[in-house]
Amino acid sequence: MLQSRMKKHVAALSLMLSATLAACAGDGATAPGTNAYHGSLPAVRRVVVVSVDGLRGDAVAYMPALSALAARGAWTDSMQTVVPSLTVPGHLSMFTGRDVTTLGITSNVLDRQSGLALAINGASTMFEWVKGAGGRSVALVASSLVPASQLESARAYFGLDEVTAVDGNLGDLRAKAIARATAADAPTLLFVHIPTVDYAGHDFGWIRTDASDPARDVLGAEYVGAARAADGIIGELSAALQPAIASGEVALVVTADHGGGHGDGCKASIAGYREHCTKSAADRTIPFVLVARDVAPVRLAGRPSITQVAPTVGRLLRVTVPATAGSALR
Ligand SMILES: [Zn+2]
Repeated sequence: MLQSRMKKHVAALSLMLSATLAACAGDGATAPGTNAYHGSLPAVRRVVVVSVDGLRGDAVAYMPALSALAARGAWTDSMQTVVPSLTVPGHLSMFTGRDVTTLGITSNVLDRQSGLALAINGASTMFEWVKGAGGRSVALVASSLVPASQLESARAYFGLDEVTAVDGNLGDLRAKAIARATAADAPTLLFVHIPTVDYAGHDFGWIRTDASDPARDVLGAEYVGAARAADGIIGELSAALQPAIASGEVALVVTADHGGGHGDGCKASIAGYREHCTKSAADRTIPFVLVARDVAPVRLAGRPSITQVAPTVGRLLRVTVPATAGSALR
């Protein structure tokens, strides 16, 4: 568990090690990323990041609101998460800009060990970068990412000013997200976790098992239904934010932690179509959509990495991004 005492220990350890890590910058394991910036990300005052847990890249086609955002933003349906393709390693990589599996974080448990692994490797979150620049961060997270008993320790550990638990009640989640995103004192960085698409994948399957075309997955009806429901929140949230997006104040990012449907062997007693964790394209490939006033519509080339999300957010907010994090998307 991430106890507060642990947090202090980790913070001290992190400070102590930062000089060592700087001295070891040439070491392969800690080599800094290129952090290349191509000059096309505008400065904004606030960013809202929505993570749709378990959303495959090819599910975007079934989501009209997200498709409409993609059409007017910088986007891809081919971003790659880390391996194992799981919620905790995926989100920690999304938050830190580091592939945390290379730091030893490969299980789906947010625990003392994962906290230590981040600290001794000098990894920090985009929420801490915002705090360092004098901003505030708020997160709405479901228990599949942070169990209720760990909310306070996760808040302190991630450098969040406030963390609120949400669940599968999408009406409640939508209301909380819109209230936070449009408040007069809205945070610099708002993170919104939508857990229900992953739930549908585990309960009913990401894909159909009776599809006739072996070359291509056919998404399950319940999974698509959950993606459409999440899309409803994305549509209402983006509509509520539209004046602030149009004025250049806010950037909206929608992405995911992992896909699913080819999780063969991930859990002994569960069929692969209802799981995720592997390096297969189905499990690894996620969408990324960025909308802001001065971001020109573009389909991002290649296969960007989930480790580019936090550096992109950091660049949009013009906060200092550690050199060890991935490079911002152009
Ligand atoms: Zn899952």
